[in-house]
Amino acid sequence: MQQNELKTPYFMINEDKLIENLEKAKQLKEISGVKLVLALKCFSTWGVFDIIKPYLDGTTSSGPFEVKLGHETFGGETHAYSVGYSEEDVREVADICDKMIFNSQSQLSAYRHLVEGKASLGLRLNPGVSYAGQDLANPARPFSRLGVQADHIDATVFESIDGVMFHMNCENKDVDAFIELLDAISAQFGEYLDKLDWVSMGGGVFFTWPGYDIDKLGSALKAFSVKHGVQMYLEPGEAIITKTTDLVVTVVDIVENDKKTAIVDSATEAHRLDTLIYNEPAAILEASEDGEHHYVIGSCSCLAGDQFCETTFAQPLKIGQRLHILDSAGYTMVKLNWFNGLRMPSVYCQRTSGAIEKLNEFDYSDFKRSLSQWSVN
Ligand SMILES: *Cc1c(COP(=O)(O)O)cnc(C)c1O
Repeated sequence: MQQNELKTPYFMINEDKLIENLEKAKQLKEISGVKLVLALKCFSTWGVFDIIKPYLDGTTSSGPFEVKLGHETFGGETHAYSVGYSEEDVREVADICDKMIFNSQSQLSAYRHLVEGKASLGLRLNPGVSYAGQDLANPARPFSRLGVQADHIDATVFESIDGVMFHMNCENKDVDAFIELLDAISAQFGEYLDKLDWVSMGGGVFFTWPGYDIDKLGSALKAFSVKHGVQMYLEPGEAIITKTTDLVVTVVDIVENDKKTAIVDSATEAHRLDTLIYNEPAAILEASEDGEHHYVIGSCSCLAGDQFCETTFAQPLKIGQRLHILDSAGYTMVKLNWFNGLRMPSVYCQRTSGAIEKLNEFDYSDFKRSLSQWSVN
């Protein structure tokens, strides 16, 4: 398969770039003894898990189907967490997970009897401090429902659980800021942690960012682990998959209304939702900063404000031309939807050998099936 023969829109996951991130994960593990479980809510394209498996220890989840998927397609350690379990979820998940992490003391006491003897028991704590650029993604925001607040903890709980999970970072590229959070947690919760077997610091630590001081992070995690006598975990999602994947689209029209808009055969609302939710414009491979041809890269959905970005090009864009929307792996493929009945992007992987392998493709029948399977009679 040649890239230019593939029908757009499609995602192209690049194995070399993925391995670059994974090598940094390996380095972090070697320095610190931390275990790393992939956060499936960020990236669940299991067709490439064979590439990831040798580097990470397992998966973590945010809902019952992710637990099942992690268990089936990744293996290793399967961590199960949910903000709210039903009893049915707990029964289903308890048999296939290695750690069950409850979000509240009420869920823990309601369901612990279903888990004991099957999986290690954990509780999410909310340290009340965080590092997150946007309020929407800040677990320590006012009235947060994520984890138990320090002043609500019943200290006896630590006699009968095995570990705790904190998650309070979002795209934290600053190692010193993370270490401050570690120190705050050690000071506030240390006496509890000493009684446990494991502590997870959650996700959002962006250790694959260029220039990130992995040694410093690793030493801090190791020191924490020694101080409290616990196995440390991180739950990276975005850090593993960042900058590995392009969403490739075709310009289908160019319109002008004070600004030129190149309309492409994809939409943020359907195929790259976080562009819209977090108002974070995408970057385009073909763009050039000092180019003199200015375009809005507009989507083909009917939502008025749906655009990928505004950027400049050295040459005028042409209808039929392809554009590569960079860094389109994390929180994208897991959020694909059928809004407007648009064509769903296929998913490919470009292997280290250069070969291109197809992982997924969709057609009209998938769209129809997602809407109803049966009609009223
Ligand atoms: C979202 C989430 C993660 C993964 O976060 P990234 O920013 O993708 O690393 C890990 N753990 C928990 C509990 C989460 O909610």
